[in-house]
Amino acid sequence: MSVTINIPTALRQFTGGNARIDVEATTAGEALDRLTSLHAELRRHLYDDKNSLRSFVNVYVNDEDVRHQSGLATPLNDSDTVMIVPSIAGGVATEYTAGEASALPSLSNEEIARYSRHLIMPEVGMEGQRKLKAASVLMIGTGGLGAPVGMYLAAAGVGRIGIVDFDVVEASNLQRQIIHGTADIGRPKIESARDRLRDINPHIEIETHETRLTSQNALALFANYDIVVDGTDNFPTRYLVNDACVLTGKPNVYGSIFRFEGQASVFRATDGACYRCLYSEPPPPGLVPNCAEGGVLGVLPGIVGAIQATETVKLILGAKDTLVNRLLLFDAWQMKFREFKLRKDPNCPACGENATIKELIDYEEFCGLRGQPQEQPTALEEITATELKRRLDTNQDTQVIDVREPFEYEIARIAGTRLIPLGEVVARMNEIDPSRETVMHCKAGVRSAKAIAALKQAGFPGRLINLKGGITAWSDEVDPSVAKY
Ligand SMILES: [Zn+2]
Repeated sequence: MSVTINIPTALRQFTGGNARIDVEATTAGEALDRLTSLHAELRRHLYDDKNSLRSFVNVYVNDEDVRHQSGLATPLNDSDTVMIVPSIAGGVATEYTAGEASALPSLSNEEIARYSRHLIMPEVGMEGQRKLKAASVLMIGTGGLGAPVGMYLAAAGVGRIGIVDFDVVEASNLQRQIIHGTADIGRPKIESARDRLRDINPHIEIETHETRLTSQNALALFANYDIVVDGTDNFPTRYLVNDACVLTGKPNVYGSIFRFEGQASVFRATDGACYRCLYSEPPPPGLVPNCAEGGVLGVLPGIVGAIQATETVKLILGAKDTLVNRLLLFDAWQMKFREFKLRKDPNCPACGENATIKELIDYEEFCGLRGQPQEQPTALEEITATELKRRLDTNQDTQVIDVREPFEYEIARIAGTRLIPLGEVVARMNEIDPSRETVMHCKAGVRSAKAIAALKQAGFPGRLINLKGGITAWSDEVDPSVAKY
């Protein structure tokens, strides 16, 4: 059987950039074997040491999860599509209702004029608009996803919107976080978001929570709202949001983005799958890059966030065809939507029949982040940008290797450095003179530390030093003419 395997963006670095690979195979497992024999490096990303598929990697044949078919033995027909979907750096009644019609708040004439395009739609109407006014939504984050979510929910007349954020607006946010403006740089995001939402719609309440969402405050915060919208960009918060939603019985409107790919769903554990039914465990740190490392197309969160806002409005209105038990994948580069069925996992640790998660846990630890500093090789030698400058000026025998990507090198570089991207550093280590002292650098110092660890593991004999803070520190301490990005 000739089948096509779709490779997600996050794994394309291991398939020579290929998005689709055709192989001959009769089962899903055989297709993955063919794929990983063509691209060996991919294997450890898909399988663990015991040769089982990793729990943060799901495999679909056409639109069905193989776990609900015959697993890796799931048979394939000619021209079937096998899709690898890894997790990426997103008690109410079955139908959410904001209360009996008589208990719903009324609309003023000003509000009637404002919402007239809703009121003349039978799917919304007066009752629907009053449900929206009675509803409350908590948004986690006012970044790329939170921006359109907040703006559209405010415009639609959702009566009470809570926003949780602790960041300040930075220039690099403005490429996608359209709730904030240039004049807001340096302001707390919740203040900037609150002002924008108030300007869009003065008839609604905006509640600001300037805090990091934690295991200590999540349950109390969630209890006070009807629906939670997850606009976070990291795994600990995503699992925290999921578990807190399951424990408080709130629907979790999920979205996530990476480069030009997005995911969206509604995790409503009262009658559907939760995020842990989809991905029971997070990927180990470093295996899946986040937006700060991988980048994101600026309009992508606009589309995914608008989908989240749409689903939120539909949940409030009691619409039937929501993303409950459906995972929507969007590829902006191909301009394609795909959809997969989700099923509640009876063994899910959060929402299954014998759920083991009865309270919130330490999510940093769960995602393997807490232990990370200790796991760093203690032998990592570091140097500051100022010290590197001194050594280069005093003609010490120091060579500098830049392990960033070529497009980053185009944006900014330290003069006299040699570019060997992280993914090629082991294969090209013969280009590094081991008799000289070698300083490795990247943007902020994380990738170059990985490069040093990889080179040491590969047996590179020379002395390797990490530039602390990367080229960003060089720009701050040594040469401000080097652009920061
Ligand atoms: Zn679950």
